[in-house]
Amino acid sequence: MELSAPSAAASASQRCEGRLSDCGIRPTAQRVRIATLLLSAPQHLSAEQILASLRAAGARVSKATVYNTLNLFAAHGLIRQLSVDGSRAWFDSNVEPHYHFHDLESGALIDVPVPAVAFSSLPVPPPGTEVAGIDLVIRLRKKM
Ligand SMILES: [Zn+2]
Repeated sequence: MELSAPSAAASASQRCEGRLSDCGIRPTAQRVRIATLLLSAPQHLSAEQILASLRAAGARVSKATVYNTLNLFAAHGLIRQLSVDGSRAWFDSNVEPHYHFHDLESGALIDVPVPAVAFSSLPVPPPGTEVAGIDLVIRLRKKM
């Protein structure tokens, strides 16, 4: 009897399909497409950038579908929604705890590892509550 060799590494979209299923998300074609785009590398993308990439690749997808899909992914912990400047929603494929630099000129977000930051004093949370997490965005501009 001949044993088949292990198959070549699954394609990126097959891996994403598996990740969606593991999270309990039904992997429709559009969801797999959006997941493949966002989860292929640690990156920060706005909903508008994702929509533009999908359309540039020939996908016929509505803005509402992209937003709903991103919110679904975020609710399942696949991606993290970031509040950076209030003007648009950013989605981060890196869901491990970390902070961000925000380059005001280019709009780029750059990850800052948690150990690079130390808080010397934090306010005591109101009675009956505890700190669930801290978001930190360090805004950057060109040196004067
Ligand atoms: Zn990030």
